[in-house]
Amino acid sequence: MTGRVLAGPGATVRVSSPGKVNLFLGVGDRREDGYHDLVTVFHAVDLADEVALQPADRLSVRTHGVTEVVPEDGDNLAGAAITLLAQRLGREPAVAVDITKRIPVAGGMAGGSADAAAALVGCAALWGQDVPRAQLAGWAAELGSDVPFALSGGTALGTGRGERLSPVLSRAELSWVLAPAGGGGLSTPAVYTELDRLRAAGDVPRAGEVEPMLAALATGDLAGIAAEMANDLQAAAFSLRPELRRTLRAGLDAGALGGIVSGSGPTIALLCADPDHAARVATDLAGSGTVRTVRTAAGPAPGARVLGGRG
Ligand code: ATP
Repeated sequence: MTGRVLAGPGATVRVSSPGKVNLFLGVGDRREDGYHDLVTVFHAVDLADEVALQPADRLSVRTHGVTEVVPEDGDNLAGAAITLLAQRLGREPAVAVDITKRIPVAGGMAGGSADAAAALVGCAALWGQDVPRAQLAGWAAELGSDVPFALSGGTALGTGRGERLSPVLSRAELSWVLAPAGGGGLSTPAVYTELDRLRAAGDVPRAGEVEPMLAALATGDLAGIAAEMANDLQAAAFSLRPELRRTLRAGLDAGALGGIVSGSGPTIALLCADPDHAARVATDLAGSGTVRTVRTAAGPAPGARVLGGRG
């Protein structure tokens, strides 16, 4: 997966990279350096971006599939990933990247991080470099705290800023309804700042311990997973976007087992019993008038991986 596909001139390498939902996200108090320590359970879903990479004269990154403006070239996280990889491997970042976005932009599902992970894996393949997995994960962490998980996929415990990963034993296949809120994305730093403000102003309930979630995952106990889903950023996302409460309420009224704001939001993730149940909840939610779009998804999904398709 790191670089076994050797590409000839004009070849294209295609990579699929998953979005994520945080089943559990406990946020510590703001540290001196401005960051927050996290304890999180990442869960990759099959709502994935597709990143195509081709040799070119210079680095370029274009995106399509979404209406939001996404930064291009070196300002895109995929471009930053290629620049870093090229530096470390002593090469020119001469790659044309075309991203088909399916993961909501600024939706709390780490779409930019997914594209960065895809760029690392795809470029290593394009350049015929068999970079050790641990090395790639180290470079991923330099790019952003969610990038290592986008490489690994599956279900994992994240600590530190989320970049320190340990495996989670999970017997659960999870079916989701994902409702990216209308009205555009939420800036992750703005959501953390709002949480700091809410905590300074009063007592905000905390997510508590992660162990009950890990136990529910280990036994594949869907009701337990639904009950233990928690996100310390949810109160802040609700405060910035009060209408998210209505979307979550509508999803639960439609019969979802549980629901949560994904990461820093504003995507609402609703856990369902199986894919058929998710399809029914999605239909009900779409008719509730509280959301613009609704998608179903399943997890755990694999991390960024080369699809082949060289042309
Ligand atoms: P975070 O990973 O910060 O929690 P998020 O998951 O909410 O963010 P992303 O879709 O990763 O949201 O986008 C966050 C911001 O990153 C966007 O508003 C955009 O300006 C910038 N960005 C850079 N590269 C990309 C990319 N490839 N896809 C989406 N956004 C990107």
